[in-house]
Amino acid sequence: MARADSVENTLGEVVRLVANEMVAEVCSIYLLRAGEVLELFATQGLNPSAVHRTRLRVGEGLVGDIAAHARPLALADAQSHPQFAYRPETGEEIYHSLAGVPIVRAGRSLGVLVVQNRTRRQYDEEEIETLQTIAMVLAELIAAGHFVSPNEVQQVDGLGLLPLRVDGVQLTPGVAIGHAVLHEPRIAIQKVVAEDVGQELARFESAAHGVREDIDRMLEAHDMQSGEQREILETFRMFIDDRGWLERVREAVSSGLTAEAGVQRAFDDVRTRLGQSTDPYIRERLSDLQDLTNRLLLRLTGRAVVDPESLPDDMIVIARDMGPAELLDYDRARLRGLVLEEGSAQSHVAIVARALDIPVVGRAPDVLARIEPGDSIVVDGDNAQVLVRPAEDVLQSIFDAIDARAQRRRKYAALRDLPPTTRDQVRISLNMNAGLLIDMQHLVEVGADGVGLYRTEIPFMVRSEFPDVDAQAWLYARVIDLADGRPVVFRTLDVGGDKVLPYVGAFGDDNPAMGWRAIRIGLDRPAMLRRQLRALVQAANGRPLSVMFPMIADVGELQSARRLLDLELERASRRGQPVPQPLRVGVMFEVPALAWQLDSLLRQVDFVSIGTNDLLQFLYAADRGNSRVASRYDSLSPALLRLLHFVVEKARPAGVDLAVCGEMAGRPVEALALLAIGVRALSMSPGAIGPVKAMIRSLDLGEATSFMRAALSQPDRPMRETLRLFAADHAIEI
Ligand code: PEP
Ligand code: MG
Repeated sequence: MARADSVENTLGEVVRLVANEMVAEVCSIYLLRAGEVLELFATQGLNPSAVHRTRLRVGEGLVGDIAAHARPLALADAQSHPQFAYRPETGEEIYHSLAGVPIVRAGRSLGVLVVQNRTRRQYDEEEIETLQTIAMVLAELIAAGHFVSPNEVQQVDGLGLLPLRVDGVQLTPGVAIGHAVLHEPRIAIQKVVAEDVGQELARFESAAHGVREDIDRMLEAHDMQSGEQREILETFRMFIDDRGWLERVREAVSSGLTAEAGVQRAFDDVRTRLGQSTDPYIRERLSDLQDLTNRLLLRLTGRAVVDPESLPDDMIVIARDMGPAELLDYDRARLRGLVLEEGSAQSHVAIVARALDIPVVGRAPDVLARIEPGDSIVVDGDNAQVLVRPAEDVLQSIFDAIDARAQRRRKYAALRDLPPTTRDQVRISLNMNAGLLIDMQHLVEVGADGVGLYRTEIPFMVRSEFPDVDAQAWLYARVIDLADGRPVVFRTLDVGGDKVLPYVGAFGDDNPAMGWRAIRIGLDRPAMLRRQLRALVQAANGRPLSVMFPMIADVGELQSARRLLDLELERASRRGQPVPQPLRVGVMFEVPALAWQLDSLLRQVDFVSIGTNDLLQFLYAADRGNSRVASRYDSLSPALLRLLHFVVEKARPAGVDLAVCGEMAGRPVEALALLAIGVRALSMSPGAIGPVKAMIRSLDLGEATSFMRAALSQPDRPMRETLRLFAADHAIEI
């Protein structure tokens, strides 16, 4: 390749060599052009006049199929394949068999390399691997702009300077303005074939050692001393010690590749095999591995991870996907936001971003191709959108919105040390929901009374195996320490359905929200639940503890769960360990059936917390995760309010504490309605505490209660507007 002098000659030489070596009559290279078109760039065997004339859309024909799915195909009888598209100008009708591999880089197809034979030939795995190695070299040359100018392969709308809005999903909330930094490190592998295999192996070992040290340094950084971020990095570090993967690289290098080509090859192999998987756990592992691969390549090519000098002061990082360590490579003082083409709210990078308090929009299609470095970008996590090159007036209104938000924050901060007491002196208990250690810092910041719902499943989801009792106990003890005397309600594992734990196995329920989840798993896998309860007892270490069981639908379930807890208490006593003092046991009221078991239930619990997110979906049979129906039924509908009122009226004489911890509790108008029907404790996301406290402090609860009593006895009518008018008339801040 180094010898050839022009594009035609280079590619011509490649196809000739491949055809000879593989004893194929045809070898062709198709490269991607603007508009997702694959163009024939070189061929040995097909009609030469078809070069630069034959074009296929990505997805069209077998070549287009290989590019679209970025995976190899080997067919002894290609013409009978449903995707076969015949192009008369090529003269390919006489070739029966076909093997093709995508020319991929960073998961993107840049072209396709194909061989064809007249006979019905079976191509073996080794031949496909050889083609993949050649494709990898081609990919590097393409990425370096050797064949097609990078501009020519850009998406059409990426070239314009027009503003663009890209919709994605919210991974973390907030709004940020800044300038784009494209995260693809674009490491061109200059040399693929090793001159001295021993030396290449040594280079690889030394790079691996270097990466190990880098990660250890990150782990030493003081904000990574504990918590999930640390654990994520530790899991990540384990990769570099993974024997299977190390062997894979060593094998590739031993077969004659340079260290960098071997690393890339090992990663490409894994991605080809797992790349189509939609399993979030596998996708997460892949992006960890991609992170690691990039790190090794950077070390091997001697480039800095990120050159800080070249980066703007207000960085919005744009990436396909990212591992957690990669995000931490960026200077935190300058990092404003993150946009990903992939990613999910549970992905490791999102969890780390949340800890850094930057907005992230994920699943934003094709942003890497549509955004140029230095473009001005708005990451609007709140509305799950990215504005690219926004017009001046749009930018101004976003600045205003950010300002207004900061002002509101200041106002709520001023309320922090004032009690959530209504104008007629009713003290409301205002708590926050949490799920990560990092959330605990908000407890003091927003001045919450305690944690009304600690969702224990979140830390479980980022681990690769079930945490043992000690690891769990450590975590819960930290939560209790950080709460510093304020009460914390620990909810036992609420997994299943869409919250899949990799080590419990996928459930594949047709109807996950109503499937095998939460307490149902806990009771079917008592050892798992007992370990969690044991860890909680251990963590409390004689201090107060509140345990709450999720998704209880039948009093019998509470009794069974309670028995498991009692076993753990007995176990602790037998061993001379202190038991929690006091211990409070409660349930989440999420399943409507519980409403008709209250007399019995309330005799057996210390508290009930109403999870309106699930309750609403079960009451109205409307999936909370389905955007078509999720907001179809108003949480202020008389049906829900009457049900809640019924529960309140039962709980009060029974002396059982009642709280509401669904999203509804955090919205001022809804919170107003809840207080007016007799709820006295709310738990919500930390950001909602300020607005709800402002509402409470401006409310005359006596008035609101009478108003609500009258409103609920009316024939069914929408309550939202009625409440808004009431609030406006009575100067209630909603
Ligand atoms: C609820 O269902 O209202 C609730 C608070 O629990 P989660 O959102 O975790 O299901
Ligand atoms: Mg729930």
